[in-house]
Amino acid sequence: MKSAIVIGSGFAGLSAATHLADHNFKVTLLEKNDSPGGRARIFKEKGFTFDMGPSWYWMPDVFERYFNKFGKSASDYYKLIRLDPSYKVIYGKDDDLSIPANYEMYRNMFEAIEPGSSKNLDKFLKQASYKYEQGINKLVHKPSRSITEYINLKLLFDVIRMDIFMSYEQHIKKFFRHEKILRLMEFPILFLGAVAKNTPALYSLMNYADIKLGTWYPMGGMNKIIEAMVQLAKDKGVVFKTGQEVMKLEVDNNKIDSVVTSKGIFKADVIVAGADYHHVDSVLLDTQYRNYNEDYWSKKVMAPSAVIYYLGVNKKVKNLLHHNLFFDADFSSHVEEIYSNPGWPDKPLFYACVPSVTDSTVAPDGMENLFILIPVASGIEESDEIIERYYQQVINRIEAYTGDKIKDHIIYKRSFTRKDFITNYNSYKGNAYGLANTLWQTAILKPSIKNKKVKNLYYTGQLTVPGPGVPPSLISGEVVAKEVIKDIGN
Ligand SMILES: Cc1cc2nc3c(=O)[nH]c(=O)nc-3n(C[C@H](O)[C@H](O)[C@H](O)COP(=O)(O)OP(=O)(O)OC[C@H]3O[C@@H](n4cnc5c(N)ncnc54)[C@H](O)[C@@H]3O)c2cc1C
Repeated sequence: MKSAIVIGSGFAGLSAATHLADHNFKVTLLEKNDSPGGRARIFKEKGFTFDMGPSWYWMPDVFERYFNKFGKSASDYYKLIRLDPSYKVIYGKDDDLSIPANYEMYRNMFEAIEPGSSKNLDKFLKQASYKYEQGINKLVHKPSRSITEYINLKLLFDVIRMDIFMSYEQHIKKFFRHEKILRLMEFPILFLGAVAKNTPALYSLMNYADIKLGTWYPMGGMNKIIEAMVQLAKDKGVVFKTGQEVMKLEVDNNKIDSVVTSKGIFKADVIVAGADYHHVDSVLLDTQYRNYNEDYWSKKVMAPSAVIYYLGVNKKVKNLLHHNLFFDADFSSHVEEIYSNPGWPDKPLFYACVPSVTDSTVAPDGMENLFILIPVASGIEESDEIIERYYQQVINRIEAYTGDKIKDHIIYKRSFTRKDFITNYNSYKGNAYGLANTLWQTAILKPSIKNKKVKNLYYTGQLTVPGPGVPPSLISGEVVAKEVIKDIGN
């Protein structure tokens, strides 16, 4: 029986560990934090249960397929409900859209904003559906270790048909003109770490996921997925060691000989690192064994970092849905301030999540669980004063929109910022969502899942293939496990 050590218990690490254990590897999972889940951990305070990271459950088919691989279903672990309306987009006071789950109603909403756009929406989604099918079933499963994986006439044809070489911005402008619609179509890629003009039009598959597959919620919160995955991993024999920060990967004869943690030394035939790629490659390994140098990393476009506020409100808040996107500010200046000219935004777009609208278990009776996220550039300097200033700004904007006094009803408040991403997850530049999905950071152009100098070291997670987001991270763990099995068998 071969042995494996997996570093990090985020979605990618959990998925890799479970797939390897299912192939009879003896798996030990080492996690620096005291609880599993990485960016999707929870914390509880004053009767509130806060999901710390992801809140949008998209692509339910990917989760179902994950559990099905092990003879299970998501419903064995948690109750999933489809949100309707899916979410709300706020363009200004008395100017918002509640996005219907029903497609006919969605079309009608488009038609009312831009006459003729509903037919274009049908065409747009027909193409997006093809991209989703091919992308999710084929492309994202490629380990992208070599260009030869893509040298196949049918696949090349598909790659062209999937608009990999056209920008997302050009693509949506072929179908729609109205500013409100353009913003609505851009949001899924913006919040997952990309900007429309640099993103391949392939990512309109995200619009298919949004509009056709829907926005779901696991009752109890997103961490229910982590609980389910941990349970499944344990059932397969994975041994969890939390509170064990890996400090060094010792190499001997071009193989990792020992994994040195804050509490001990571990050995295994193969190591799969699900912690942030840059940290593993540039901090845990000696220089001569690194896949990439600092110059390589400094040129990478990182997905945003985030300023997050977890708030407990001692009353129900009016006029907000479960998911609310505040687009009541200039879209392009905020995008500039994240990517082209990184700095603190003047008037940021932000996202407010109120899971207690759907789920009474995440807040005490009659109260509201409010999570606010502002995407900001990775790597910018912060101070307590800045974080407080943005807090006041977003609360004022929420109060102005809802017409409801909230500030004086906040009985719990915690912020989580760039420096917390670094201390909690060893995140490069404090990124929240890994590497941006630009054309030059797609497929074989992403950091490789295999170390080229150390025979038994692999990488998984949101900085390698296929990319950021919960479904891609789940898939990343599966892809790397398959490569390990192919390379060293069991
Ligand atoms: C605020 C926020 C909101 C998001 N919203 C969404 C959303 O709504 N929908 C969506 O699909 N995606 C969302 N995402 C993205 C998604 O959460 C991530 O892409 C995904 O969770 C990444 O998983 P991962 O396994 O790659 O990394 P992580 O979850 O970061 O896991 C890496 C693990 O490695 C551990 N680690 C690091 N260094 C060491 C070390 N030296 N030794 C041991 N362990 C170590 C870390 O503690 C961590 O547990 C969001 C992310 C954030 C931060």
